Amino acid sequence: MSFSKLVFTPLSYVGWGSLEQLVPEVQNYQPNKILVVTDPLLVKMGIVEQVTSPLEGSGYEITLYTEVVPEPPLQTSEKLVSFTREGQFDMVIGIGGGSALDLAKLAAVLAVHEGEVADYLHLSGTKKIDKRGLPKILIPTTSGTGSEVTNISVLSLETTKDVISHDYLLADVAIVDPKLTISVPPKVTAATGVDALTHAIEAYVSVHASPVTDGLSLQAIRLIGRSLQMAVHNGEDKQARIDMSNGSYLAGLAFFNAGVAGVHALAYPLGGQFHLSHGESNAVLLPYVLAYIRRSCPKRMVDILEALGGTAFSLSTEEASYICVETLRNLIDEVGIPSKLADFNIPEAALDGLTRDAAKQKRLLARSPLLLSEEDIRIIYQAAFEGV
Ligand code: NAD
Repeated sequence: MSFSKLVFTPLSYVGWGSLEQLVPEVQNYQPNKILVVTDPLLVKMGIVEQVTSPLEGSGYEITLYTEVVPEPPLQTSEKLVSFTREGQFDMVIGIGGGSALDLAKLAAVLAVHEGEVADYLHLSGTKKIDKRGLPKILIPTTSGTGSEVTNISVLSLETTKDVISHDYLLADVAIVDPKLTISVPPKVTAATGVDALTHAIEAYVSVHASPVTDGLSLQAIRLIGRSLQMAVHNGEDKQARIDMSNGSYLAGLAFFNAGVAGVHALAYPLGGQFHLSHGESNAVLLPYVLAYIRRSCPKRMVDILEALGGTAFSLSTEEASYICVETLRNLIDEVGIPSKLADFNIPEAALDGLTRDAAKQKRLLARSPLLLSEEDIRIIYQAAFEGV
């Protein structure tokens, strides 16, 4: 008998207007001091005010922490965790993209732990999370990472990225209101949208995929496939934003339970060393990794093609899986993301070092339907560098 362990965020509100559920959910926890973790741009744009103003006048002491930066480095998380420990808060609300949400959940949990954040890193840490921490409500403002439903926080290190993961990092409540994503600019919409698509595709071809995660992944691919371009080119399109929001939420649930694999293993060093956003690193690598592994999961590639709106009718599986990769290449190109590493000014001389770092991501690589050796990884980076 084989079975899957499936973990879902305890409670989610998903859909246009779901933000209204924030006040009753906060009331359930009866906090006195609430820490809101967000980034300065969202404060400037009035998005934070939109979220927190209904909480004002109810007697809560609300503290804004606005020092979140994109792709947060370890040092940023260390500062926030010290601030949270000193502040004696009893609830954390994260508002923002994956960068703010990852830091908010980490602060909520490490507030009740000792030591440095670095002590808890997956690859190099020595300490284990063993306490639930403060209650946390996560409110995404991008449609991408799925951080609101995953148990990981991603941090940028000097030459790569690493994660801290534990089920206590899961949100107590996730509120996913697409209204908050209307203002996301086209470039960020494209990168975050392809990030979500990558989550869904990697979860679908993962060796840990199950019928439950397959349903989540395929529906995510359908929604993102039909609405990504519209969301990028006409950000005011309500239906496109709703689809992207549902798609990234579903993709988050899918990849949290089935895992991501080769694309992420190769993307982490790119983000760490060359500061590409997480979405861009995934987007530039996705077609090359899939082109390399497609023959190990041909039927799944056909399903992905069909979920993207393509047809495999009258094609052999080999042809259809090739067309699946080309369809993705065209989609990524159409939303304006450069198609090769050279376009991001990454020198060819960096490929050996990137390969060594990617090969260390053994947990991610183990989920790939084709086990990627260091030699395979080098070949994929070369192809992505040249654009072939
Ligand atoms: P982000 O949070 O870094 O935000 C990107 C930019 O978009 C920022 O400048 C931000 O201010 C802006 N922005 C956010 N919402 C906006 C809005 N509504 N309107 C206008 N601008 C807005 O980007 P992201 O891609 O959401 O998150 C990336 C981070 O998440 C990376 O560190 C990545 O490694 C991590 N990540 C985490 C998980 C997870 O499961 N925890 C999964 C994937 C990625």
